Amino acid sequence: MTGLSIREDLAAIPEYRQGKSASADLSDLETYKISSNENPYTPLPSVQTLIAELAGTVNRYPDSSGAALVGALSEQHGVATENIVLGSGSIEIMSQLIRATAGPGDEVLFAWRSFEAYPMLVRAGGAEPVMVPLDADLCHDLDAMLAAITDRTRLILVCNPNNPTGTTVSAEALERFLEQVPENITVVIDEAYQHFNRQEDAPVGVEIFKRRSNIAVAHTFSKAYGLAGLRVGYAIAPAPLARAMRAVAIPFGVTAFAQAAAVLSLEVEDELQVRVDALIAERERVVEALALAGVSHPETQANFVWLPLGEATPEAATLLEQAGLIVRPFPGEGLRATIAETEANDRLIAFAKSLQRN
Ligand code: PMP
Repeated sequence: MTGLSIREDLAAIPEYRQGKSASADLSDLETYKISSNENPYTPLPSVQTLIAELAGTVNRYPDSSGAALVGALSEQHGVATENIVLGSGSIEIMSQLIRATAGPGDEVLFAWRSFEAYPMLVRAGGAEPVMVPLDADLCHDLDAMLAAITDRTRLILVCNPNNPTGTTVSAEALERFLEQVPENITVVIDEAYQHFNRQEDAPVGVEIFKRRSNIAVAHTFSKAYGLAGLRVGYAIAPAPLARAMRAVAIPFGVTAFAQAAAVLSLEVEDELQVRVDALIAERERVVEALALAGVSHPETQANFVWLPLGEATPEAATLLEQAGLIVRPFPGEGLRATIAETEANDRLIAFAKSLQRN
């Protein structure tokens, strides 16, 4: 007992688990960290040069309004600057959305399993997470989510594609769902993996935002743009909600490096798209190999695959680690493996083949 006044409800929130890092190990085998859905490509040389150039300016605070980045995003998406909110990664964006809408006594609804941070952020904000199980295909059960709405629901999170299963909702299914959500409840479409989604009828969050009054979209520069270490994400949200989000944001939360690299990344999006396409081709290669090996898994539209190995998960994670692959296991459920360097993908394929033999 320290005698300090600390909110008691916070004691129940587990710490966010980062995937183990690929630190030097005992063998000669190079280890690949494929546990955090990172982009295996190092930043483009132009981005690296820009970051180096900015090193001499860090005695100054960044532009707290992020005007250049907000302007570039406003142009890219065809929305007003007042609708754009920046954050230190989209994880801060989710935190802002939750704290701007829900507090003690309120509920935030989302599918489960989904992004691990959701329940933590909701509880940290003092609200109650309502977690609706995914359906048998590991997709959002939108009907069950509708049925779980109460008069305390303030926010609904739809992760599309879903982390960690890679599954998606179709534009049509999402539209039917949104038709039935009361208009006072904001629906957040978390599109962290949107660039990797090649489903034919994939919903486009920004387009839905433009048609409806209760939609917010969360995007990140961490995945397709490969800037995870810089921490920059953004929301497109209705103006009153955007204002409330800025009120709960931490001032100067997005560094000058992050802002400048994000602006430049938008300018060279074609170059980055080539990388995204290559990662999608690698995903298809892995998926085909899994099919050949008879390993069933949900269809993924993200930069990772989910292997629903159930009770065999910890053992599989250990075997993969011995093969130099650090994955993200969820004991009793399955494991998530990021599509990464060719060599890492080759090893994942070799592992799938070994499952077939057993
Ligand atoms: N949303 C989802 C679904 C994610 O998987 C992640 C990161 N793993 C984030 C948001 C947060 O990403 P970042 O904070 O790096 O933008």
